[in-house]
Amino acid sequence: MDPAFAGFLIRADTTRERIMDDLKFGTRDKRGNYTPNTPAGTAPLFVWPPRPRAFLAWLPGYFFPYNVLFFLSALAWWAWVIPPVEVMQSLAWGWVLRLLAVNAVAVFLWYFAFELHLYIRRAQGNRFKYNGKFPADHPSDVFWFRRQNLDNMLRSFLSGVPIWTGVQVLVLWAFANGYAPWLSWSDNSLWLAVLCLIVPVIHEIHFFCIHRLIHTPFLYKWVHSVHHNSNNPSPWSSLSMHPVEHLLYFSTMFYHLVLPSHPMIALYQLHVAGFGAVPGHVGFDKVEITEDMAIDSHAYIHYLHHKYFEVNYGDGLIPIDRWLGTFHDGSKDGDARMKARFEAKKARLNAPKASS
Ligand SMILES: [Zn+2]
Ligand SMILES: [Zn+2]
Repeated sequence: MDPAFAGFLIRADTTRERIMDDLKFGTRDKRGNYTPNTPAGTAPLFVWPPRPRAFLAWLPGYFFPYNVLFFLSALAWWAWVIPPVEVMQSLAWGWVLRLLAVNAVAVFLWYFAFELHLYIRRAQGNRFKYNGKFPADHPSDVFWFRRQNLDNMLRSFLSGVPIWTGVQVLVLWAFANGYAPWLSWSDNSLWLAVLCLIVPVIHEIHFFCIHRLIHTPFLYKWVHSVHHNSNNPSPWSSLSMHPVEHLLYFSTMFYHLVLPSHPMIALYQLHVAGFGAVPGHVGFDKVEITEDMAIDSHAYIHYLHHKYFEVNYGDGLIPIDRWLGTFHDGSKDGDARMKARFEAKKARLNAPKASS
């Protein structure tokens, strides 16, 4: 079983401990950087031979807490935020701006909750923190106003939330006007339930493809390097992207214009992308929720991507990186494999020069 996916709740050995001892779960180097003992793992899906016990152990973490939370948020949007179909049939400022405002408030609250707890109050200090430094303590010229948080926040609200809302409006308008195959729950409950289950899988495949695309040299330089300015990511880094990347990232919702679907499921797809970006960027391996209980952040794979750039283009739900040889699990072996790959690439790039 991949231990990283073995569960999502971690308990301290004894409730008498006042704080969790992160060194029971990992090591810290002299710079204060934390490395979990358990290498990052990919989900036990698409493995041969099948591993039913590992699959069953992994399953609760697939739903709880994040995907269930984003499904419920999509339900809430559908019930209380999204206007009636007749209103959405025409594009008008009223409902569009209202949607923009609700999205902005929700993003602020969700992202700020992590920021406040882990980076402003520093409630768990640097326990379980991959990079020992806090971005606020290290101003850098790569950021607007030299401040990572401010830069990341501004990018999230100046282009992230507006593009998120734009994609959402377009898809809802298309559904309302019959341009997308809108199935009813009563007639197609089985297919719609399956679709709900695979929303995170669609997200993973889409994210891998667009992410690998923007790591090609031209697009990296002009688009994706903005996101990678945060090599010590924090919650606001999640949506700190170039507008072109925002558009590519949120276009995951467009699959529901082609697949027979339901606007509520399309919203769920969008929330998995928009709200789901946070867990990968919290910068902590575990988030302590009580004195003796912590929740697995699943951030390690993407943290390693921010650290090493050309590894882990996906988040490990589908082992595409393993298949393509770009997976890094954070271990010394993973490091050696990455270095060998970089050396081979360098040799390939230098070969024509040597022969000319
Ligand atoms: Zn990232
Ligand atoms: Zn990247």
